[in-house]
Amino acid sequence: MHITSNRPDTQQGPAENFTGSVWLDEIAAPAAPSRLRVFNVHFTPGAHTAWHRHPRGQVLHVLEGEGLVQRKGGDVEAIRAGDTVWIVPDEWHWHGAGPRTFMTHLAVVEAAKDGTTTEWDAHVGPDEYPAGGSPDTPA
Ligand code: MN
Repeated sequence: MHITSNRPDTQQGPAENFTGSVWLDEIAAPAAPSRLRVFNVHFTPGAHTAWHRHPRGQVLHVLEGEGLVQRKGGDVEAIRAGDTVWIVPDEWHWHGAGPRTFMTHLAVVEAAKDGTTTEWDAHVGPDEYPAGGSPDTPA
C-alpha cells in the first residue's frame, strides 16, 4: 500500500493537443502489471481537447462545473458535476469546458500493452465547438 500526499507539479496541456488553458494533475499511474492512469483535468472556460481516442476506452467523471463532450458523428452533449461518461475503445471524441464555465473531471484510462493511452487527431474547429466566444477571450 502507498499513500500519495505530495503530488507531481500540475502540467499544462500542450497546445498541440488542447485549445485554451488546461491543467492536468496526475492522480495515479501505478507500476506494472497495473495499466491504470488517472488524471484530474481542469479546463478554463472555452478550453477543450483536440479530437482523440483511447485504445482501451475512457471514463470521465465530472467533479465540478459544466462542460461538453462529443463523439464523432454525434451531437455535442452537456455534462455537469456528478455525471460519468464512458467512451468506448477507439471512439473518436473531444471533451472540455463550456464556453462560459469552468469544468474539472477525473479522466481514467487503461494503457494499451505498448503504453499508449491516447491517439491524437485534429483540433476541434470553430464550427464544431458551440458558439459563445473564443477560449480565453472575455465576452
Ligand atoms: Mn478522451
